[in-house]
Amino acid sequence: MEQHTSGLRKTFKEKLRPTPVQERQFEAVLWRCRTLYNTALEQRITAWERCHVSVSRYQQEAELKGLQAELPEYAAVHSHVLQDVLARLDTTYQAFFRRLTNGEKPGFPRFQGRNRYHSFTYKEYGNGARLENGYLILSKIGRIAVHWSRPVEGTPKTVTISKEADGWYVHFSCTEVPIQPLPQTGQETGIDVGLKVFLITADGEIIENPRHYRTAERRLQKAQRRVSRRKTGSKRRTKAVHLLKRKHQKVRRQRQDFHHKTALYLLSTYDTLYLEDLRVANMVRNPHLAKSISDAGWAAFRTILACKAVYAGKRVVAVPPAFTSQDCSGCDERVPKSLSVRTHVCPSCGLVLDRDENAARNIQWLGQRLRGVPAVAGAMNREPAAL
Ligand SMILES: [Zn+2]
Repeated sequence: MEQHTSGLRKTFKEKLRPTPVQERQFEAVLWRCRTLYNTALEQRITAWERCHVSVSRYQQEAELKGLQAELPEYAAVHSHVLQDVLARLDTTYQAFFRRLTNGEKPGFPRFQGRNRYHSFTYKEYGNGARLENGYLILSKIGRIAVHWSRPVEGTPKTVTISKEADGWYVHFSCTEVPIQPLPQTGQETGIDVGLKVFLITADGEIIENPRHYRTAERRLQKAQRRVSRRKTGSKRRTKAVHLLKRKHQKVRRQRQDFHHKTALYLLSTYDTLYLEDLRVANMVRNPHLAKSISDAGWAAFRTILACKAVYAGKRVVAVPPAFTSQDCSGCDERVPKSLSVRTHVCPSCGLVLDRDENAARNIQWLGQRLRGVPAVAGAMNREPAAL
């Protein structure tokens, strides 16, 4: 993780409290953006099919003025928002061709249905979108109330309005967000994903999976079944789909909340955290289904942890995973064990330790060795053998 003293980029997301009229205006902007996206896509395809020429984003942008002059419904949308639509299409196109050149088989950029186009963006804060006395001011729409959860920091660059299952949100993408370092504690540890628990540290501390996970999962399955039972295209199905979306959103938020709190706890306790490099870890672990399932949430957590560490002035170090659960953290002896063996018992030095805790320690020693930190490891290492 690189650290910038000048501050960082961060997005602040807040719920909006639009009036019914404003909601209809948002819907109208979304509708026009989606139409423009599909028309621009069609234009690119047709130009290619008919004359084998490609149309660039800038050519399309140049046509916007004419479009706005001719069609009043487009004149009612800020020109930056329309330009952003074309930029999004261009990004999709570039990605498509990049993957094509890489020999992959990407899906062709698709036309956007009503349920696939959720947001629109003002690409320059202060131009069409700005804050004033805690309200969001959008040109041609007006003053929208914001349900603030925390202040926006740094310099806002872009403003995006998005529609989610439970309403409308605003996202401020900011640069130069000041770093807020957490106090240094002089402590380091390794962490590993547990099979039954969420994670375990090299100090033997366990963080359990929150209990609400399983209840939420059951509710999600129930909502999913309700959707599949109902007839496609029926009103009842639409209703069930909406409910399922709400449930998904709730689960996602609960999980994020748990990840944020856990990351904050670890970063306030430790200056450096060692964990396994996931790209390699995946290959090592894939044969074990149970482990790879828990890896899904683990990956999201690691991203949050790494981002938060940068803001807190702390360090997250990824180490290559090699036999971290097989080797003895006390004497380096390799002690082969299948996944069902939950306890590490070393025949050579007598160390007896929970399997995952042993792995977490190995991750810490390995990380410290890689960083050239004189192993605090050594001394601490022998200690548990005496327990
Ligand atoms: Zn040993």
